[in-house]
Amino acid sequence: MKVMVFSNDGNSSRHVADRLTKKLTSTGFIMESERPDVVISVGGDGTLLSAFHKYATQLDHIRFIGVHTGHLGFYTDWRDFEVEDLVVALQEDMGQSISYPLLEVKIKYADTGETQRQLALNEVTLRRYAATLRTDVYIKENFFESFRGDGLCVSTPTGSTAYSKSIGGAVLHPQLDAMQLTEIASINNRVYRTLSSPVILPSNEWLLLKPSKTSDYVVTIDQFTSKDRPIAEMQFKIAKERIQFARYRHTYFWDRVEDAFIGSKHEI
Ligand code: NAP
Repeated sequence: MKVMVFSNDGNSSRHVADRLTKKLTSTGFIMESERPDVVISVGGDGTLLSAFHKYATQLDHIRFIGVHTGHLGFYTDWRDFEVEDLVVALQEDMGQSISYPLLEVKIKYADTGETQRQLALNEVTLRRYAATLRTDVYIKENFFESFRGDGLCVSTPTGSTAYSKSIGGAVLHPQLDAMQLTEIASINNRVYRTLSSPVILPSNEWLLLKPSKTSDYVVTIDQFTSKDRPIAEMQFKIAKERIQFARYRHTYFWDRVEDAFIGSKHEI
């Protein structure tokens, strides 16, 4: 098995990554950065996002593992003090994996007419800061609403606990094949009207945004931001690719949610 250890720049993550690399090498694993079988991210959920984007063109054969150097995360099943247990699990690997949906966005630019396709693990947002974002929203071929406000966010099920949750989105179980559209500060009055609640779409439907003719847009794809290009349209679908995690043990999803957002179990 060829393994890549991908760490963030923090001291504690680099220290854990060094320890893990030494342990893996001494137990016979081959360290490989170009075409690994398993990518182990060491840091937080944000580090796993970076590892995902680095290897987004190799999703057909890579399995990911997340080691968190803080609390337990959503993409990170292992804690930094469990490095030895993780190496044993890798030695006993039988190819176990679990996969989760990704979001595909196709952005057609109004200046050149080119279309760029990208994948997101958490979410894609379209925003405008200097003035109100105006965009028509279609579901499949059908006009749905005219949005006015700060922006729109389309998230994956695993991204539903990230930015989407902060703007009032629902938490989706990661095994649902779905995407969620969430509004960011929509204007609603007698003149302008949107649904004003998150919308969850199945995998056989898609979303199309046709924003007004201006160029001061901000587009975010997970941790990446691009600015100031005129956008003709953005199409969102559940991607045909999925992210695969090597799963050697199972943390019940709702326990993870409870631990991250509520913190202590108090029954009445
Ligand atoms: P960051 O600003 O350094 O970190 C944002 C926080 O989001 C971190 O605490 C990170 O956890 C957490 N996070 C990332 N993915 C998550 C997920 N799927 N479920 C629950 N929490 C998650 O940014 P970053 O590390 O580069 O990550 C980019 C992501 O941050 C974006 O995709 C967006 O979802 C999120 N974000 C959220 C807000 C907000 O909620 N207001 C604002 C900006 C960005 P770790 O500490 O484990 O890395």
